[in-house]
Amino acid sequence: MRTIDVIARKRDGLELSQAEIEAIVLGYVAGEVPEYQVAAWLMAAYLRGLSRAETFALTQAIVRSGVTLDWGERQPSVVDKHSTGGVGDKTSLVVVPMVAAAGVPVAKMSGRGLGFTGGTLDKLESIPGLQVNRSAAELKAQVEAIGLAIVAQSAELAPADAKLYALRDATATVESLPLVASSVMGKKIAGGAPAIVLDVKVGRGAFAQSPAEAHDLAATMIDLGKAAGRRVRAVISPMDEPLGLAVGNALEVKEAVRLLHGEGPSDLLAVSLAVGEQMLLAAGATADEAEARDRLLATLSSGRAAAKLAEMVAAQGGEARVVEDLSLLRRAPLVETVRSPRSGFVVDLDARVVGETVVALGGGRARKEDAVDHAVGVVFWAKPGAYTAAGAPLFDVHAVDGAAARMAAERILQAYVWGAQPPPRRPAVGEVLA
Ligand code: URA
Repeated sequence: MRTIDVIARKRDGLELSQAEIEAIVLGYVAGEVPEYQVAAWLMAAYLRGLSRAETFALTQAIVRSGVTLDWGERQPSVVDKHSTGGVGDKTSLVVVPMVAAAGVPVAKMSGRGLGFTGGTLDKLESIPGLQVNRSAAELKAQVEAIGLAIVAQSAELAPADAKLYALRDATATVESLPLVASSVMGKKIAGGAPAIVLDVKVGRGAFAQSPAEAHDLAATMIDLGKAAGRRVRAVISPMDEPLGLAVGNALEVKEAVRLLHGEGPSDLLAVSLAVGEQMLLAAGATADEAEARDRLLATLSSGRAAAKLAEMVAAQGGEARVVEDLSLLRRAPLVETVRSPRSGFVVDLDARVVGETVVALGGGRARKEDAVDHAVGVVFWAKPGAYTAAGAPLFDVHAVDGAAARMAAERILQAYVWGAQPPPRRPAVGEVLA
């Protein structure tokens, strides 16, 4: 089979066989299929779409590119969670320690920033020293010892996803729901957790733009997980405006740590609790949602969730004192406060514009080999629902220099819409699918 023929078949809208998809994916990992051909194939897949059978085949190929962990059956079971990607989405940094502190082991493989969305690995790496590259044996040992780990794909675990993910990010092929579904579920299945909870983001700042798309994406991922014998639940949560107040790697770590200490934005808390509840239910820790919520809230008030995060940071070689002293995180050279140009209620704040602006500040990548600036980003003083007086602080830009700060200020001012009345209250969390 010639790779060029497989690319041409996809380009022409034909359905590929499992063998053809495996040949591209496993050949890429083995270094036998060159990156330029995989990039062309990804673009063909992006433009033509993938059938359900092709999405299953791609997911399986990602799983088969490495080993699959086996956590065995235990009560409660090991659980994993994954977000389909959003702006300001630091939920994993909050919910993984909460769930682990509630007594449910979490083994999580995360991703890096993708397109205009942030990635948990980039956020974690803003903690000095923290390593996300762990062998399968190290991941297992860490979860057995302290009950939680967040790691990257590796040469052993879903290596095909690591390579395809980085290539998609640099070839404008991110926003394809079949590619998202197989990337997420390839990792989740290889990670081996019997219980998986998906946070499916919907809106302008997400890859699923409409409720129907989010529903389809959730249903496809649930089917992929169930076909692999996993218990999968999905929470659908809105992503039209950024989640929380901070967008940018270290800034999001700060916000997540503050929430673990009991002070943080209510939308982030609501999504974290909703996802965490489903994690406790899926793991079999309890059958009662209210009890799950109480157990999670107790991990915040007791300080156990913050302590769990510190344990994880230390186990992964990072500076655990960050959890008590946020000044240890790197700060951008310039922090500029942008003031409101008018009085009124903020009725909208476009998450996608915000995400793209933070990437342009250096918080994400334009090319695979780009380094991420962990310190840059934006912190909002006012989000939709807030009243701003003209001249009052609206947001802070954390930037490398004045030109970058001005670029970000201009773009983000365009993302705001004001009105005479507050906008209708939007729920922080939507439907749950199982
Ligand atoms: N998260 C992933 O792991 N992959 C995607 O494609 C999108 C979000």
